[in-house]
Amino acid sequence: MPSASPASNARSLQGAPVLVVGAGIMGSGIAQVAAQAGHAVWLHDTREGASAAAHAKLASTFDGLVAKGRLDAAAAKATLARITPVDTLARAAAAALVVEAIVEDLGAKRALFRELEGIVNTDCVLATNTSSISVTAIAGGLLHPGRIVGMHFFNPVPMMKLVEVISGLQTEAAVAQAVFDLSQAWGKVPVHATSTPGFIVNRIARPYYAEALALLQEQAASPAVLDACLRAAGFRMGPCELMDLIGHDTNFAVTKSVFEANFHDRRYQPSGLQREMVVGGLLGRKSGQGFYRHPDDGSTALPVALHGAPATAREVTVHGEGDIAEQLEQATTKALSAQGWGPARLRNSGWTGVEVDGARLVLTDGRTASELSVATGVARLAVFDRPQPPSAPGTALAYAVAEQADASWHSQAPMWLAALGYTPLLLADTPGLLVARTLAMLINEAADAVLQGVCTAEGADAAMKLGVNYPAGPFEFLARWRVAEVVALLDTLDHHYRGERYRVSPGLRRQALRGAMAAPRSA
Ligand code: NAD
Repeated sequence: MPSASPASNARSLQGAPVLVVGAGIMGSGIAQVAAQAGHAVWLHDTREGASAAAHAKLASTFDGLVAKGRLDAAAAKATLARITPVDTLARAAAAALVVEAIVEDLGAKRALFRELEGIVNTDCVLATNTSSISVTAIAGGLLHPGRIVGMHFFNPVPMMKLVEVISGLQTEAAVAQAVFDLSQAWGKVPVHATSTPGFIVNRIARPYYAEALALLQEQAASPAVLDACLRAAGFRMGPCELMDLIGHDTNFAVTKSVFEANFHDRRYQPSGLQREMVVGGLLGRKSGQGFYRHPDDGSTALPVALHGAPATAREVTVHGEGDIAEQLEQATTKALSAQGWGPARLRNSGWTGVEVDGARLVLTDGRTASELSVATGVARLAVFDRPQPPSAPGTALAYAVAEQADASWHSQAPMWLAALGYTPLLLADTPGLLVARTLAMLINEAADAVLQGVCTAEGADAAMKLGVNYPAGPFEFLARWRVAEVVALLDTLDHHYRGERYRVSPGLRRQALRGAMAAPRSA
């Protein structure tokens, strides 16, 4: 066993001198945040002139903040004076914390930490900002592996609140806690994680891209339709526009690294479509063309569909219970009020949706409209995606129509969805449509991460909200849904595609069973 490092005694890193190695995008942001929190910071980069250039750039950043009134001129001057570019590591030998933000290469990071072991004191904490390399691997072969910890900031560092504090197999708890406490003192929201592929955010976020890519590959809808539906569910950017922003090369590389680090588990299999875009140079904003042209040439626009009023109905019933059924009842009541009547209501019919003269609009449970049509014997049937509260009038909502339906139901189904206040967007008849399927997969991945001790449920929620701006964390999405329904939807997807991607997390299945056992037995 390697000896415990004296850093295990570390109680507090607050106010301690910090060495930041690597003066690129991340390193200069980390230096800024540390200096703004009052630390003396040394900034080092092996590229000649890089740390001085980063210092000069920080000076103009601070000038900008002063000009906008966001920073006091004297404070800006003092903060900048706390950052010292150094051309050798030896000049920063008194550092109590090193944060490494050099090139993403295991050999380079190990070599740097080995060199640092001969320079800094044995109680100095060594942190890596790696986004994909195992912290355990970086620590391998060092004299004091217990003091190596991941301190994963998000870009841009001064703006993004999340810091994933990553423990490798040998990281001492006191070291991780000291970095956690320090991150808090820097105004960040730290979350503990274990060193596993993708850590928290880059792991749990994979389905957000993967489900859209899978639907595109099946030609289920256009990128503009997929983006509109997920924006309507509260996400700041749809998956296609987000991949265009990140760059398909970067996004594909992260997916590939998570896939490979999981021994080619097909749950994380990268998309052939995205690989084609990468090899073809369709990298998104940076190359001028991805799913969309950049600058925008209108290809982001949605197809314009004008939906007239649906034909007058004789009998309308709202089925199901829960928030979505309540929303549907309100919307249907409003839609029918002009004609002076309201819908009937059936709570225990086993499905959620609206029935119009025997035709059905059904909230997706994972089965396609055509499957449901066969199962129920109702030919005039359409499924619609999971609306997220609060849905403003005109919110985009995906739907699909059963193959068995006649032409009149193909036109009536979207008219009814429009009458209920949605902007209906047609998808091919795919299981779980888009929002339901994407949310279920995010929940599933988060449940697996918690099961494997990567993070807590609260940690996963905070990480996804702060690291990638999700409108809610995966467990918060789950709280608005029944666990058994999420499991059923995933099982349906699993059955439909028969791959490993939709394998249900044992943690989620267990939770569903516990819920079923706790529920009162009804006749
Ligand atoms: P970058 O290319 O902007 O900067 C890296 C800097 O490190 C360069 O200036 C380079 O000259 C310097 N460098 C390389 N080897 C060095 C060495 N041995 N010693 C000293 N300096 C060295 O890269 P970046 O985007 O700032 O990323 C840095 C690290 O942060 C990587 O590990 C990356 O995975 C991680 N990260 C990046 C992001 C992001 O969005 N860019 C987000 C989170 C984490």
